[in-house]
This record gives sequence, C-alpha cells and structure tokens, in this order.
Amino acid sequence: MASKEMYELGSQASVIRDLFAYGQAQAAVVGTENVFDFSIGNPTVPAPACVKNAIKDILDTRESAAVHGYTAAAGDVAVRQGLADYMNTTYHAQVRADNFYMTCGAAASLTVTLKALVESGDDEVILIAPFFPEYTVFIHNAGAREVILPPDITHFQISLEAMGKAITPHTRAVIVNSPNNPAGTVYSAETYTKLAALLTKKSKEMGHPIYLIADEPYREIIYDGLPVLYVPEFYTDTIICYSYSKSLSLPGERIGYVLVPDCAADAQMVYAAVCGAARAMGFVCAPHLFQEVVLQCLGQTSDIGVYDANRKLLYDGLKAMGYECVYPSGAFYLFVKSPEPDANAFSEKAKKLNLLIVPADSFGCPGYVRVSYCVEPAMIKRSFGAFQALMKQYQ
Ligand code: PLP
Repeated sequence: MASKEMYELGSQASVIRDLFAYGQAQAAVVGTENVFDFSIGNPTVPAPACVKNAIKDILDTRESAAVHGYTAAAGDVAVRQGLADYMNTTYHAQVRADNFYMTCGAAASLTVTLKALVESGDDEVILIAPFFPEYTVFIHNAGAREVILPPDITHFQISLEAMGKAITPHTRAVIVNSPNNPAGTVYSAETYTKLAALLTKKSKEMGHPIYLIADEPYREIIYDGLPVLYVPEFYTDTIICYSYSKSLSLPGERIGYVLVPDCAADAQMVYAAVCGAARAMGFVCAPHLFQEVVLQCLGQTSDIGVYDANRKLLYDGLKAMGYECVYPSGAFYLFVKSPEPDANAFSEKAKKLNLLIVPADSFGCPGYVRVSYCVEPAMIKRSFGAFQALMKQYQ
C-alpha cells in the first residue's frame, strides 16, 4: 500500500523528461549530432572558476567536521551573514543573517515557503501563466489550491485586471517568476509598481497580507543591460526563493535560500514558520560544503555571455524562418508560438525531425512551445535545417 496521491505523482511521466529520454534513445539510432534536444533546462555553461577554487580551498584548509558536519538548521550563520552583507551592498536590502534560511535549491525554497504560509485547505495561491509546472505540485503539498491567471500573450507581463478579479478572501500568496521559465520575459519596474499597488489595496480589502513569492533562480541571467530588481523594494510583503542552480550552474548540488525580509508583514512569525516547515519536511541543514562554496562566490555567475550569444543566434534564426517568438530578455528559454493551435501536434512533428521542443500546455500556455537554449551553440546551428523543414510543413 502507498499513498494514491504520491503514487500518481511519482508515476506520472513529465513531458520534458519523456522528450529528454526519447532524445537519448534516438541519439543511439541516428547519432548524437543528428538529435537537436532543446527540452531540458540543465545549465551547459560550466560553473565559474571560483566554485572549483572554493571547493579545493575548503577541502584543503578545513577540518572534515567543519566542512561535512551539520550546520544550524537554517544554515551556517557566517554564510547567512555573508549573504546578508552581499544583499545589503548590492540591493540596499537591509537584511540580517536571521532573515535567511538555506535550502536545497529553489524547489525546496518554494515548498518550504508555501508550507509556511498556507493555513487551511481553502487557501489559494495565484499563478501567472505561463509558469513552472512544479508550482502546482508544491501548492498541493502545502494543502492549498492554485488559481491560474491566463497568459498575457501580448506582452507576457502580468494582467492586473485578471489578477484583481482572481484575488479572493482565500488568497494567501501570488508566485512571480522573473526572469521567466518558460517565456524568457523579465518584469519591469513599472509592472512591479502596479502589482504592488494592487496587492496593497487588495490586502487591505481582504484584511490580511497577500504575500508575493518571488521565485528567482534566474535572477542574474538577464540581457540587454536590464536592471536586476530587488522585489521587496516594490512590495514589502515579498518572500524571495533563490537558488544557485542556474546562476552558478550548480543544479546537482542543491543549494539556495529563502529570504524573509523584516519589511514583510509578520516577518518574524513567517520566518519561524519557514523554519518549522523545513523541519517538518526534513529540509534542515542544506549541503554544508556548498553553503561554504556559495559564500566564497558571492556576486559571481557562470558566463552569461554564452547564453546571450545562443539567445541571439536562435531568436534571429527562427524569426528569419517565419516563427513567431517572444523576445527573450532573461533565463535561457525561447518561447515560440506554434504555427498550429495544438502545440502537442507541432511538437510531435518536430520530434519526427529529431527536434525536441516542449509543448507549453503544462506551463499553462497552450499553443506555444519552449525551446531551451542552454545547449551547445553548434547544435543550434545544426538544428536550423530541421526547424526550416518543420516550418515548410505549414507554408
Ligand atoms: N523555479 C523555476 C522557475 C525553475 O525553472 C526551476 C528549475 O528549473 C526551479 C524553480 C527549481 O530549481 P532548483 O533546481 O533550484 O530546485
């Protein structure tokens, strides 16, 4: 016997994983160079040199127990102080070590934050399509329900009118993800200002704070000189879920944090609830070695220039073939409108050409596909023939 809900969750195939597995199998048949796998968001740019240097330095100079032993449940206090200093210098954040809870990446940060905020089965969490599909899993785990805002397919920002209508007395939180997976869009200061005004007004009306959960694993992967914004500066009731999976290319090391700034409503209580949620779910003491590593790599990132070059190559290439693409300002995904209404059918046709692109239905945005460009630039160039042949089927 097992939990039916968990059984189903563990047995359901994910479209992305399916495509990825198909690509691996196909590579054995037609050769790796003839499979164009744009399915998965696994960083291809190596971690910056500071990561290796930090690991070596820590292992060479520290006692085993000081590197591999437990830290405090929330993370090593010196690491959290380092993060606080960095955020204060970079974003004038006015935060302290005790505002941070170190986690096993963004997935854990979100799971813990949602569990900390949700009180009853009637609670609702608003998602803005397109969104990272795992959000619904995390929301259900916390015992709440998701309310999905339809995508704003004109600008891929936030439809405040739709948001205003979606907020009810049950709304506990709204999740935003900028730079966005899968759309590659970045919310502007104007968007955050308007969103903050709406949430402030609605929080008053509802008689309780509506928290903004800023899921920011792509925070620094941003192009065209756009500014990196500190969301609590716009809306004080913000909780930040961060991860080094993408910025330092460390997805397998599972390291990130939750930041509950003092400016958030009931900050101390929420932070304590984050500690409680992490305890209840066994997410205490994030990997110690990597807590120390990220401390030594503050302010560093992998070479974003590689993604930028891929972005331009892919966007320009596909536009020239007649594909309708959302202009990507951040992350490493290109969001492309399917030339036929059914993006699954489009993706299937692409698959026959060994071109693996993800239909965005599970991201809450039917009619689009996600093309992940954290890949080798040479593969992008080799894929153009297949993209061209695919487009021909629609002309
Ligand atoms: N949030 C978004 C938007 C993501 O794209 C991902 C991973 O791809 C995550 C969260 C989970 O990140 P992590 O690997 O840090 O758990």
